[in-house]
Amino acid sequence: PEGTRPYLLGGNWKANGTLATLRALIAEFNAAGPIPANAEVVIGAPFIHIPECLSSLRSDIEIAAQNCSLTGPGAYTGEICASQLKDMGVTWVILGHSERREGFGMAGEDSDLVARKTKIALAEGLKVMFCIGEKKEEREAGTTMDVCASQMKPLADILSKEDWANVSIAYEPVWAIGTGLTATPEMAQDTHASIRQWVSDNVGADVASAVRIQYGGSMNGANAAGLLAMPDIDGGLIGGSSLKMDFFSCINSVP
Ligand code: PGA
Repeated sequence: PEGTRPYLLGGNWKANGTLATLRALIAEFNAAGPIPANAEVVIGAPFIHIPECLSSLRSDIEIAAQNCSLTGPGAYTGEICASQLKDMGVTWVILGHSERREGFGMAGEDSDLVARKTKIALAEGLKVMFCIGEKKEEREAGTTMDVCASQMKPLADILSKEDWANVSIAYEPVWAIGTGLTATPEMAQDTHASIRQWVSDNVGADVASAVRIQYGGSMNGANAAGLLAMPDIDGGLIGGSSLKMDFFSCINSVP
């Protein structure tokens, strides 16, 4: 990326793995070589596997949760709140992933809710990967940036300029997630540049030049180098490939 933005490579394990398979993966990650000095690496683990990651995963990989509650602490059965994550030693949280926005059969999360969760997570001292991205039909209709802007607007309204220091935007075109259909580096760069311009216009030029914008959607060891070479692509949010050693191929693809 341009300027002084360190690359941010996030793994998103989603609801995958058992204690045994994740222990085996952690052992492989721990045995892998050094992480490039200009890369920050974070694994988004299922809540229940966070303690195992915190105690076993190499210390140069930080741990993210994949969601947090809007409410709490208190009488909110089944929820896990930002202050509890922070207390455990978690440093990041992934918010507004398209799967959560969609809702998988339940009520999905809207952009206002995701923005409010982000504000709370930041107030508790967590860093946030804030996910945005258009669906296939929205790209085909030419509304990609309208969708991304509408997802970011409540965030821009609720955050202070200082808050933005602890936010990364994860641009994940929904049609590319888990499909093997990656955006081309040019296509992704084009949208990343528009997102950065939007942040410049709606938050400030200083925030826009400092904020990291990760690409997500079928990133893997074979396509990461091309994507990460683009001037406005500051990292990745990696699902399927983060469950394999291929994650380290992505990490080692940083320019
Ligand atoms: P994928 O997932 O890499 O498997 O496409 C990315 C994500 O959902 O964050």
